[in-house]
Amino acid sequence: MSVLRTGIGFDIHRLVEGRKLFLGGLQVDFERGLLGHSDGDVLVHALCDALLGAAALGDIGDHFPDTSPRWKDVRSTYILGAVLTMLKRQGLAPAGVDCIIFAEQPKLGQLKHKIKEGLAEALGLDEACVNVKAKTTEGLGGIGGSQAIAAQVIATLSCKD
Ligand code: MG
Repeated sequence: MSVLRTGIGFDIHRLVEGRKLFLGGLQVDFERGLLGHSDGDVLVHALCDALLGAAALGDIGDHFPDTSPRWKDVRSTYILGAVLTMLKRQGLAPAGVDCIIFAEQPKLGQLKHKIKEGLAEALGLDEACVNVKAKTTEGLGGIGGSQAIAAQVIATLSCKD
């Protein structure tokens, strides 16, 4: 019988000039990008934390510290691949994820489906098991002022008991 485990992840990164913007592994056409030790992909970071949380394996900073030159400018999708390998070793596999991207800019309505497709492929899941939502914060705070983008993810894993 399969047992389900659930984890939650959150991340926020600052939007700055001179960086490419990556969201959920997709390069998004925008004049600024997310500042970070890696590519700053806030959605993939929140996803990794949700997966690690469901597996009770700590957080992304435990395994991929931003003080290590090894992870400098690395694509976050590479980190996601490493997290999936860790899960597999524990007999765990993603069963479903639900994601929220909080961004005033760029507008993500047209991109949500592409991001979902990419995440489903990266996770080895049917698209019916992956959901991506985009929200603004109604102009409030740092996200509303387009200074940052945040993401929240809840992930469910199945494990063989
Ligand atoms: Mg991060």
